[in-house]
Amino acid sequence: METGGGEDCCVKVAVHVRPLIGDERAQGCKDCVAVVPGKPQVQIGTHSFTFDHVYGSTGSPSSAMFDECIAPLVDGLFQGYNATVLAYGQTGSGKTYTMGTGFKDGYQTGIIPLVMNVLFSKIETLKDQTEFQLHVSFIEILKEEVRDLLDPPCLNKPDTANGHTGKVTVPGKPPIQIRETSNGVITLAGSTEVSVSSLKEMAACLEQGSLSRATGSTNMNNQSSRSHAIFTITLEQMRKLSPVSLGDSSPNESMNEEYLCAKLHLVDLAGSERAKRTGSDGLRFKEGVHINRGLLALGNVISALGDDKKRKEGVHVPYRDSKLTRLLQDSLGGNSRTVMIACISPADINAEETLNTLKYANRARNIQNKPIVNRDPMSTEMLKMRQQLEFLQAELCARGGGSSSDEVQVLKERIAWLEAANEDLCRELHEYRSRCTDVEQRETDAQDGSPCPLKSDGLKRSLNSIEQTDYQMGENITGDSREIDEVAKEWEHTLLQNSMDKELNELNRRLEEKESEMKLVGGSDTAALKQHFGKKIAELEDEKRTVQKERDHLLTEIENLASNSDGQTQKLQDVHAHKLKSLEAQILDLKKKQESQVQLLKQKQKSDEAAKRLQDEIQFIKAQKVQLQHRIKQEAEQFRQWKASREKELLQLRKEGRRNEYERHKLQALNQRQKLVLQRKTEEAAMATKRLKELLESRKSSARENSAVTNGNLTNGQSNEKSFQRWLDHELEVMVNVHEVRFEYEKQSQVRAALAEELAVLKQVDEFASKGLSPPRGKNGFARVSSMSPNARMARISSLENMLSISSNSLVAMASQLSEAEERDRLFTNRGRWNQLRSMADAKNLLQYMFNSLADARCQLWEKDIEIKEMKEQLKELVGLLRQSEVRRKEVEEELKLREQAVAITLARSASGNLHNSLEHFADDTSGPPSPMSVPAQKQLKYTPGIANGSIREFCVSSEGTPWAVVNEKISSPRTGWKIMEMEEKSPPMAFAI
Ligand code: ADP
Ligand code: MG
Repeated sequence: METGGGEDCCVKVAVHVRPLIGDERAQGCKDCVAVVPGKPQVQIGTHSFTFDHVYGSTGSPSSAMFDECIAPLVDGLFQGYNATVLAYGQTGSGKTYTMGTGFKDGYQTGIIPLVMNVLFSKIETLKDQTEFQLHVSFIEILKEEVRDLLDPPCLNKPDTANGHTGKVTVPGKPPIQIRETSNGVITLAGSTEVSVSSLKEMAACLEQGSLSRATGSTNMNNQSSRSHAIFTITLEQMRKLSPVSLGDSSPNESMNEEYLCAKLHLVDLAGSERAKRTGSDGLRFKEGVHINRGLLALGNVISALGDDKKRKEGVHVPYRDSKLTRLLQDSLGGNSRTVMIACISPADINAEETLNTLKYANRARNIQNKPIVNRDPMSTEMLKMRQQLEFLQAELCARGGGSSSDEVQVLKERIAWLEAANEDLCRELHEYRSRCTDVEQRETDAQDGSPCPLKSDGLKRSLNSIEQTDYQMGENITGDSREIDEVAKEWEHTLLQNSMDKELNELNRRLEEKESEMKLVGGSDTAALKQHFGKKIAELEDEKRTVQKERDHLLTEIENLASNSDGQTQKLQDVHAHKLKSLEAQILDLKKKQESQVQLLKQKQKSDEAAKRLQDEIQFIKAQKVQLQHRIKQEAEQFRQWKASREKELLQLRKEGRRNEYERHKLQALNQRQKLVLQRKTEEAAMATKRLKELLESRKSSARENSAVTNGNLTNGQSNEKSFQRWLDHELEVMVNVHEVRFEYEKQSQVRAALAEELAVLKQVDEFASKGLSPPRGKNGFARVSSMSPNARMARISSLENMLSISSNSLVAMASQLSEAEERDRLFTNRGRWNQLRSMADAKNLLQYMFNSLADARCQLWEKDIEIKEMKEQLKELVGLLRQSEVRRKEVEEELKLREQAVAITLARSASGNLHNSLEHFADDTSGPPSPMSVPAQKQLKYTPGIANGSIREFCVSSEGTPWAVVNEKISSPRTGWKIMEMEEKSPPMAFAI
């Protein structure tokens, strides 16, 4: 931190890792952030970042943060250096905790309270040599509006902002404005600056501001996470310089004063989380973007300042894009010593935001500031004069008696004049100062006159009670639920087989494609062709040679003839010459043919290579296909074995009537099944993540290629168009893939939440059991869980923990790629996605292409809509049928009851001797089914309610994979329920369609 005036000094970045908090523990989150021991290095997944400091979660202890990062800034404040502390991070990562902006009396953690303590104890020790004045302001930037937290709007006080005391303004003051003074200092016009003289007063300001930040909004959490809060301390000091430095002949005392003024901004930034892109309501996204405008601009400023190349190119720094960056202009790349504290949560569920935060903070480390000592102009002037004086005195001493007394006299007069001038200036300064303090005093008096009632409970945040969900454990398993298990397993098996079949089809399709391509490339036997070409060339060579021989022969003949020339020979000569010419032409022709043959041969070689590549690819696909087929077989075999052994075992168990064993087995099966499904889900997620990774990487290289094409003037119209189209397709593919991964991510989070919920209940029950208590009845399925045997509970807990850690790893891996995609997207928006389009023609072509694909997509969407509509119709019909049969079942039950009564009556009558007749009558009545819908009533009763009454939880039906996630047995009912319907409700053919 040791920097002289105007020296470069980088923004220091510290990471603060908070521990897992209650909510996260309840969700079963795992710690996914590792700190390298002894190094300021953070690791998450495969990423690793180095910072200036890392605190918390076994980095340095958080308590060291103040001494190492903040205390030097406070010291600097006394030397006249501005300073800024920025807390950055997603909502809930600990910004407010770290800064202490949520200050309450008696709650004194956080940087600001510590700064205040140190500030005042330092002032106490220096007060003999220095006169201090302190001011604080506390503002909040919300939706690009600056709110004064020390001036609550409930005070309808006189407008003193522009000096017109007594003029009462109706609701509030004019909005606070950011201004830049002529010497480039940013100030806030219209915000309250409270003069404070004690720790207590300053703490009161912090508390009042925190309070109005909280009470000013309907939803405190919401607002405080979306606004930036800036607490600013301004320290002015009039320092009496020690006379020793001035030598013996100390001049007038007032000349030894030095005026310094420095500001310390303590900033609690808005939550950095990005609006979710999967959200169905576009509104939320829009709002998110608007609210985070400050952070967006801050990111751009950091990028512009943090990039060495950009800095050298003198790229424009967009300070003016937001109020926040405008206010912090000095803190970033300007006159300030700046520390950024990146707050992160270690929970795997926050991995993506944590990665984003770390990347953001890492960029900030490259920013160079230029802090200078802030003296006021008058003070600087005095300093200059004093230097001049010193110089003159020194000169005087050096000359000693040697100089003429006239000269000394002149100098002495000059000194006297300078001293007098200095005294005048100082007096003036003092006058202005005292007048200024008077005015301020009056102002504060006016404010104190009508204090604003403050609600003390405003800061108290009510804890959200955990929703009392209808929690059911797998304990309601009766004999029938074995069938549920079975059917579920079968269903899963079918699903798996289906998905593998699909994969196989895809492979077949690709194989066909490649093979047809192959046919195009190398239809004929290459070796034979080569031989043919070789032979052809040799033949041509031969032919050429004979023709050449003939030509030579002719030439000699012509020569001979030329020697004895007469009429006859002349004629012959002509004939020969003619023939010669034709021979020459023939030779030329042959040469050309030969060349073209060579060319052909070369082309042939090229296509041979392509064919070889294709051949390889085909081989690869075939191998994949074989593998897949093998897997399908294996899976089927495994399933068969599982089923057989299970049946055998269950039969055995049932026979022996070992209910406990049976239960245990069931639980094991449940564990096993859930794990399998989770593994499959995780594999799917991993596939999507891997694909995204590949896409992102290939985009990197293709971007390079593209720019090479455009830069290298290779702009061959058509190929360029194609390459743009390819690029666009690729971009869109990436988008879709990101969406897919995000979708998987959300799903995985839900699964995890459900697992954690169950785990929490089990653990609580375990705790109760260990204390010999029985868990509270009727609460969150406690009753159900508590009937499990301790062993079964332990097994279930360990299985759940295992699944949670699988889920956690998968989440972190996905988060990593999502953050990567986000980062790339950010670069694209900054640089402009369309920069590589250089001409109108290119743009039009691409637009046309886009239009076509959009139209295509819309048509497909339409078709899907229709399909969905049809399916909904079918579903409706089915539900109707189900209801009907339910009604019918009830009727049948009624009927049965009546008959039973009838039987009872008949039996009673039998006592009176009329037995035979009535029994016959009864037998007639009961023969044949009561109705065509006489399905096994008991089973229908068991599985249909969820569907018929539409009470399935939303995520149970939302997708094929999630249902089991709701841990209890009821969950598997939607899926298995359907299955059972298919089997039992044979009459309506619709059931099979679904
Ligand atoms: P933010 O301001 O970033 O939204 P908060 O400061 O409100 O986050 O912190 C969220 C929760 O985490 C609070 O309940 C807070 O007490 C807790 N917390 C934050 N940092 C720590 C820490 N270092 N140690 C313990 N608890 C913390
Ligand atoms: Mg906060």
